Amino acid sequence: MSDSSVKTKMSVPLLDLRAQYSAIRDRVRESVDRVFESQAFVLGAEVEALEEEVARYSQTRHAIACASGSDALLLAMMALDVKAGDEVITTPHTFFATASSVTRLGARPIFVDIDPRTYNINPASIEAAITERTRAIMPVHIYGQCAEMDEILEVAARHSIAVVEDAAQAIGAGDKGRRAGSMGAIGCFSFYPSKNLGGAGDGGMLTTNDDRLAERLRILHVHGGVTKYHHTEVGINSRLDALQAVVLRAKLPHLDEWSNQRARHARRYIELFAQIGLTDKVGLPFVREDARHIFHLFVIRVGASRDALINHLRENGVGTEVYYPVPLHLQKCFQYLGYKEGDFPEAERAARETLALPIYPELTDEQLHYVVDVVRQFFEPK
Ligand SMILES: *Cc1c(COP(=O)(O)O)cnc(C)c1O
Repeated sequence: MSDSSVKTKMSVPLLDLRAQYSAIRDRVRESVDRVFESQAFVLGAEVEALEEEVARYSQTRHAIACASGSDALLLAMMALDVKAGDEVITTPHTFFATASSVTRLGARPIFVDIDPRTYNINPASIEAAITERTRAIMPVHIYGQCAEMDEILEVAARHSIAVVEDAAQAIGAGDKGRRAGSMGAIGCFSFYPSKNLGGAGDGGMLTTNDDRLAERLRILHVHGGVTKYHHTEVGINSRLDALQAVVLRAKLPHLDEWSNQRARHARRYIELFAQIGLTDKVGLPFVREDARHIFHLFVIRVGASRDALINHLRENGVGTEVYYPVPLHLQKCFQYLGYKEGDFPEAERAARETLALPIYPELTDEQLHYVVDVVRQFFEPK
């Protein structure tokens, strides 16, 4: 062990889903049995019940289940008739699927740099990116905090452009009392297992308050035909399994408590880093006023020492990850879009300087102290 390592080694994973399972184990097993007895595996009553529950939770009129968060984004673009030659304004600091949903339809993602405090799209830079080809603005509620929706909705309304929320990391997040997924034309959610509400596999959901868009999405996700074998347009096959629906329905009643617990841990991290006087070395998450941040991820900024800190954390049993190491405008597959290094300096800096620390509801205070101590040891080796 190097002399900078902490005395008693602990193991603190980035995320621990086993602890969560014990809270829902009985209900999940009962419901899984029920699905097998019914032998109704795709869509059906359980999926419809989940749609109603997610619509209520997200304060929207409609929710339409689909097979993944990536599909939700693609379906949202399809429902808005995004096609070749169109442009969609979004952030380069996000998961790949945000932009690939646009390029899959032959349209172009137009990137706009991020606000270095929140890592969300910088609303002040959006208007300059709008052209007569702009079909949508797609903010991502990164790490579980909503993008600045008032500013985004205002500029979108002024130009009559739809807003699609990539809320994959933000189910239950709030902005001035409004829920993620309820503010734009369409909200897109992911139930990938590591998300705050995660299934036992892939899953996704679309939310909208627009009856017409809801109807369109219901057609598009079943091959463009609500009546079997009669297709009004070409959709895709993106349905949710009943098995996923029962797992998600078992978890949903716990989601608020779990997200509050994450937020409590985040406040504790922030408190402890301030107490030991590390705030000049460790850039802490910024929570906007009037925001409900659900802390899907707890991301810190540490400058040029980032990779060395990652090694130090791993050597000491602390899970960590970089979200995301390559901004989307510099991805090889998007070279044809013509972006180059230096185009979005804040997104590029975030990719170089940030890392995530463990956060999940069941994280203990002892584990949290240990993580902070391991970080402290890195900056102030004894
Ligand atoms: C997870 C995620 C997605 C994709 O969701 P999948 O269910 O994995 O397809 C899209 N956007 C963001 C921001 C995500 O975090």
